[in-house]
Amino acid sequence: MGIEEIRVYAVPLPAVVTYNMSSSKVATPMSTVVAMEDDAGRVGFGEVCLASHHAQPANNDGVRNTLEILAPVVLGLDPVNTATLNTAMHAAVDGNNEAKAVLDIACWDLAGKRLDTPVVDLLGGVVDGSGMTYHVVGIGSPEYAAAEAERLQVEGITRLQLKAGGRPIHEDIGSIHAVAEVCRPGTDLAVDTNRGWSTVEAIQVSNACAGIRMSMEQPCATEAELRIIKPQLHHPLVVDENATDLRTIARMISTGLADGFGLKISRLGGLSTMRAVRDLCMAASVPMSADDAWGGDVVAAAGAALGATLLSQLSRGAWLSHPYHQVHYDEGNGPRLENGAVTLPAGGPGLGLVIDETVLGEPVAGYTRG
Ligand SMILES: [Mg+2]
Repeated sequence: MGIEEIRVYAVPLPAVVTYNMSSSKVATPMSTVVAMEDDAGRVGFGEVCLASHHAQPANNDGVRNTLEILAPVVLGLDPVNTATLNTAMHAAVDGNNEAKAVLDIACWDLAGKRLDTPVVDLLGGVVDGSGMTYHVVGIGSPEYAAAEAERLQVEGITRLQLKAGGRPIHEDIGSIHAVAEVCRPGTDLAVDTNRGWSTVEAIQVSNACAGIRMSMEQPCATEAELRIIKPQLHHPLVVDENATDLRTIARMISTGLADGFGLKISRLGGLSTMRAVRDLCMAASVPMSADDAWGGDVVAAAGAALGATLLSQLSRGAWLSHPYHQVHYDEGNGPRLENGAVTLPAGGPGLGLVIDETVLGEPVAGYTRG
């Protein structure tokens, strides 16, 4: 019943188009994928991929280095018992949630395969059958942003995230107004700055866009700055980069700072913590997303599974990797967008993917129960 072997892969994930954020552009990040095998030969997959060295504190090389410590710790444990697994990982390593997330996700996939049950059912089940995704409009001219927003809505996307920051704010204000003019009544618009504005800039943008129905996602760098601007904003405040753990998220809800969250499975350490955060957000009626910084089909399947368990009116969307990547591990079963809704992978129990490990290349590390 225990975990017998863990194989680690480093997989380049070239983006289909250049993805511009305030701090960086995403080119070809190296995703970390693990294949976790139990004593019956079943294999569960986990994945974490950080977008760039500037987008978040963790990085992909650090994830793989930390797995050198974590992988031996979880060998022999029961993958169904994710509580014990996470306790063991937290005892072995302080922080490094991104590396823990790789193994936690793999355990959920492996547990589902052993129990012959989809991960979405292990997480509580599909709530209303209308899992949705969001799509990003990168930083560019107002004309570009409006055209992208229009195109995505024609494809059925109802959650738009417009990137901003890292340039004079009159250019951001121009793009926000251009996108707002083409937004349809059922479309939610979030302006995501990825910490790119000062407090003064954030307040000035909110004032200049006061009549626009939108939310402001992580406009400034720190929680302290968000608390300074919050009383002066005309728009709901969504926290992403500062939503680092369950305790922080609980405080941000109870003190009224956060009107919503952009949540990363990797930052929170995997699906186990995401499940707890989901229950908190649903109980408090705070919208959240189930997404990640970047990643391939495994990250997308994990996000889609958790996203399907959200009440639709409180869902800011799940991460869907397919439109962003040239490389897919399971071209046939990976999550897809159909009529604006995310289809869950149909490849069987667990995360629903069927992955031939040869598509991942050669393992860069391997750990076997000794
Ligand atoms: Mg964000």
